[in-house]
Amino acid sequence: MTHSAITTTAGWRFDNSYSRLPSFFYSKVSLHPVSAPKLAVLNVRLAASLGLNEEALRSEAGLAVLAGSAAPEGADPLAQAYAGHQFGHLTMLGDGRALLLGEHIAPKGDRVDIQLKGSGRTPYSRGGDGRAALGPMLREYIVSEAMHGLGIPTTRSLAVAATGEPVFREDELPGAVLTRVAASHIRVGTFQYAAGAGGADQVRTLADYTMQRHDPELEAGDYLSFLQAVVRRQAFLIAKWQLVGFVHGVMNTDNMAIGGETIDYGPCAFLDAYDPSTVFSSIDAHGRYAYNQQPRIAAWNLARFTETLLPLLDEDEERAVALAEESIAAFPALFEAAWLAGMRAKLGLQDEAPEDEALAQDLLALMETHRADFTNTFATLSSGAVGEGPLFESEAFAGWLVRWKARIGGSDDAEAAAHGLMRRSNPAAIARNHRVEEALAAAVEGDDYGVLNRLVETLRDPYAYTSEQAEYAAPPDPSCGRYRTFCGT
Ligand code: AMP
Ligand code: MG
Repeated sequence: MTHSAITTTAGWRFDNSYSRLPSFFYSKVSLHPVSAPKLAVLNVRLAASLGLNEEALRSEAGLAVLAGSAAPEGADPLAQAYAGHQFGHLTMLGDGRALLLGEHIAPKGDRVDIQLKGSGRTPYSRGGDGRAALGPMLREYIVSEAMHGLGIPTTRSLAVAATGEPVFREDELPGAVLTRVAASHIRVGTFQYAAGAGGADQVRTLADYTMQRHDPELEAGDYLSFLQAVVRRQAFLIAKWQLVGFVHGVMNTDNMAIGGETIDYGPCAFLDAYDPSTVFSSIDAHGRYAYNQQPRIAAWNLARFTETLLPLLDEDEERAVALAEESIAAFPALFEAAWLAGMRAKLGLQDEAPEDEALAQDLLALMETHRADFTNTFATLSSGAVGEGPLFESEAFAGWLVRWKARIGGSDDAEAAAHGLMRRSNPAAIARNHRVEEALAAAVEGDDYGVLNRLVETLRDPYAYTSEQAEYAAPPDPSCGRYRTFCGT
């Protein structure tokens, strides 16, 4: 009997356009091998879609790449330079604990960044150790994959490799490296760096490059259309966040990707009970990045982006400012339109009527009054079931339901069609904070990845309404109090 040949190469196909930019934009870095790498999780489906071989990724040589010990053939490791407004203050940052291996070309021709997060010190590390702890890297893995399942643009997680080395935070924790896959890691902060540390020429170089990467259909040099495309992508993205109750938690300008993907899963979390002023992050003392602030903050970040483009928009400064202001001013309407379209789908409304916004807002107001669970309220409505609890039992809700039924047309067929659209638009399950914590505890403390893998698998298609998802729908026990998240770990 003959055995088929074992594939020993993982299938990386690098073409590193970013490293062909002027060295102003990055620092080439060397790797920091780790002592005892161990694969914690591997995203087999993502690997397959990237044309990567699972067996080879799991091999010693494959793992050395995922742990940041060895560069695969064709990689050109670098740390990207960027700046950023952190909680409103502009700082020079850069990849302080990450490196870009390069751009992998997937089988269908898509170009994706392969970034290692937690891979050791770089010239931008400042006082930091360049490392990451296993728990937060697994957390990013779970939540980013859950966001992808929800149909929300996001960076993806290919793998988490434990390093076998401790990292020192408040406690000693196991270290890990996350392999992050992204359309790019170009941020608002990358443009701020180009403008601040360079000038118009550097901004132009970066804008030309970014347009080729994210908006290749635009005419070269049409920076106004580029700006408008970036504004549109963010309006669409933030609307998606609001519609699933996602709180990013640290919307600094360095954490806003020009490609329109959700990036940097630090202190993020999903709403349980609907409270628009929800803040999860322990460091966000003033609620700058609260759930209901996200659209306003996105517009603020986009204004910072726009400022960097001013010299490219028009030679005449006044005209440039006017064009910029007009582009930013479009954000609220773009956001509202995307949000309302999403809300119509959540409510099963197949067409548009003037009263739709009030119908949606009135339901949200009742949910807030009765502290109804955000995800479960919509999921229950999608099933056509009469729910339990203060919201569903209230007289005001009965009144709202009469309006909703009248709006969709009242017939059984119309209701069934509405429920179909609603199930496609309202997740049956989200990455509940207590479920994420449970998965992390089992993995980090018990070296048991079964809980995590089941959670990730359950969230892969959150619109399926499986019996397993029903098990994951339970909100946390109210005695748990408000969930707190921590970043910088
Ligand atoms: P973040 O809050 O994850 O967006 O990170 C903000 C900045 O701090 C980025 O420039 C990171 O690279 C840097 N940073 C975060 N953690 C570390 C660390 N452990 N070592 C070095 N730099 C870090
Ligand atoms: Mg960041």
